[in-house]
Amino acid sequence: LEDAVRHADRLSTLGTLAAGLAHEIKNPLGGIKGAAQLLDLELPEGSELRDNVRIMVKEVERVNRIVEELLALASPRRLTLAPTNLHKVLGDIVTLQKRATEGRTISFQQQFDPSIPPILVDEALLTQLFLNLVKNAVEAVDNGGVVRITSRVISDYSMTQKGERRSRLVAVEVSDDGPGIPKEQLEQLFTPFFTTKAKGTGLGLAICQKIVSEHRGMIKVESAPGTGTTFTVMVPLIQ
Ligand code: ADP
Ligand code: MG
Repeated sequence: LEDAVRHADRLSTLGTLAAGLAHEIKNPLGGIKGAAQLLDLELPEGSELRDNVRIMVKEVERVNRIVEELLALASPRRLTLAPTNLHKVLGDIVTLQKRATEGRTISFQQQFDPSIPPILVDEALLTQLFLNLVKNAVEAVDNGGVVRITSRVISDYSMTQKGERRSRLVAVEVSDDGPGIPKEQLEQLFTPFFTTKAKGTGLGLAICQKIVSEHRGMIKVESAPGTGTTFTVMVPLIQ
């Protein structure tokens, strides 16, 4: 037990440290970005110098994103629960991604169970969760690929001390017909900083897992190289 307490203590200290560090880094980053943008305005269009300044702005934005994701992962927080329209959240994400992927032909399919009532969740976090999953799917598929989102209600029969208790969960599947994930990588997916992408942060799925467990839910992945990947998120209808 002592070991467990010490471990938990160390983790929370690390979280506080990371959160503090992230805040400290974000301010100077904002300064660098602002200065580079001013420089950009002074330089002639098409000049090599201006291209370099634009690269600076882009890379600063990238560091900022990593820091923000780290902050999301490390800092303790309280959920803001409110009745949330799941299908509106999912629909908005698809609309956003359609706009972001213009020029590539990706077909988005949505198959929602209309009987799902508003669910009690933190809407901002739920949006981040599904956005991360849909983004990964979009990044995985080729031109002409298919990204499918489905929702349904399932019953979970769990044993309590008083006997069997039934609770209702929503299950959302995000699947794609991309290259799939090699078996030996499946266990590492949710580990912070695991990425196979040249410009990935490897924090997206770690954040997903944190959000799901904060909602007392589950996330699982099924994938076969060559056929595609399905992530399934299950969360209770009420907390
Ligand atoms: P990132 O997207 O920055 O790499 P993530 O945590 O979101 O970080 O994902 C980690 C890794 O999991 C990805 O680099 C990729 O190898 C794998 N992955 C996640 N989603 C999919 C998917 N839909 N298809 C194939 N591989 C995936
Ligand atoms: Mg990702």
